[in-house]
Amino acid sequence: MDLYEYQAKDLFAAHGVPVLPGSVAQTPDEARAIAEQLGQTVVVKAQVKTGGRGKAGGVKLAETPEETKAKAEAILGLDIKGHITRRVLVTPASDIAEEYYVSFLLDRANRTFLAMASAEGGMEIEQLAVERPEALAKIAVDPINGVDLAKAKEIVAAGKFPAEVADQVAEVLVQLWQTFVGEDATLVEVNPLVRDPQGKVIALDGKVTLDENASFRHPAHAELVDKQAEDPLEAKAKEKHLNYVKLDGQVGIIGNGAGLVMSTLDVVAYAGEKHGGVKPANFLDIGGGASAEVMANGLEIILGDPDVRSVFVNVFGGITACDAVANGIVQALQILGDEASKPLVVRLDGNNVVEGRRILAEANHPLVTVVDTMDNAADKAAELANAGV
Ligand code: GDP
Ligand code: MN
Repeated sequence: MDLYEYQAKDLFAAHGVPVLPGSVAQTPDEARAIAEQLGQTVVVKAQVKTGGRGKAGGVKLAETPEETKAKAEAILGLDIKGHITRRVLVTPASDIAEEYYVSFLLDRANRTFLAMASAEGGMEIEQLAVERPEALAKIAVDPINGVDLAKAKEIVAAGKFPAEVADQVAEVLVQLWQTFVGEDATLVEVNPLVRDPQGKVIALDGKVTLDENASFRHPAHAELVDKQAEDPLEAKAKEKHLNYVKLDGQVGIIGNGAGLVMSTLDVVAYAGEKHGGVKPANFLDIGGGASAEVMANGLEIILGDPDVRSVFVNVFGGITACDAVANGIVQALQILGDEASKPLVVRLDGNNVVEGRRILAEANHPLVTVVDTMDNAADKAAELANAGV
């Protein structure tokens, strides 16, 4: 989960990384009130989960509360790379003597952590990495040893930071590493880390990605989820403990087992090429024990997607045999009643398949078509989605 800048800075502050105080506003008047309280020149910053806000006009200085209101008015609603700005951070403006870059991230390829640091921050780091790769230090961090002051000094030296800020930057790196580990992040990044004219080092921007696999260890992180920005279908699926990911297609997919569902997405996308370019509308793995209730919950989510025109139920009977799954489908359709309004293509195979198919044939539901093989079923589902325009 990516965090907003203001959330990232809250976590930084909790771990001692120096940041400036500030508050978030959702309206121009709220922004004005924050500026009044701060009583000095402020920066109004778009809170969107993407970089390059400065260039896009999402970061503006304001000298008075009235000007803060005007700047907030200009920034709220701004579309930055497809992200609509709904909140602005109002924070004291800092004079900048120098801009640096520091980050810690998970280095998947090398199965370790990585520190990146440069005394030449400010500009986009991707650009720096391409144009002046020698200016961007990359130092592996051992997960057991982590970053103590000695390791931090090694990173500072490699990043060629000026001697006058070396000690401060090293300290920031240790605190940033504590944020990274303490919050179970996969990325913490500060760009720019600045030196102000008085010589103090401050994190002026912050980016944090949290590892959601560790959320059970961080009950407080639940508050960081932005319900407004969440896909409503994904949010509903999460409430029902379903493994659902919304995609941009027309064929709803239900399967049991992540591997089977992934390959179902592939065969449907392939079949769709012959049927008007229809694509899978979602990933949904209902797992091993496909009870009627789980099947009904899954179908309800998928049928709630206005883009869906047909549904492909692809189940391999294992621990839960095909007859149980078939009964689950029949009962789910009863539970849903009129809500079930789109054609269902069902492919069952595996344990007790003959009995499963017999149950579906007997139920003879007008929306259900049973197809024997996965490829043929994908073709049928794509054909129905294309016909249902
Ligand atoms: P990003 O463009 O999304 O990375 O947003 P940043 O928070 O990094 O801001 C972009 C740029 O605006 C920074 O690199 C700074 O040059 C400038 N900026 C941000 N905050 C301040 C500030 O308090 N004072 C001054 N003078 N410039 C700032
Ligand atoms: Mn930045």
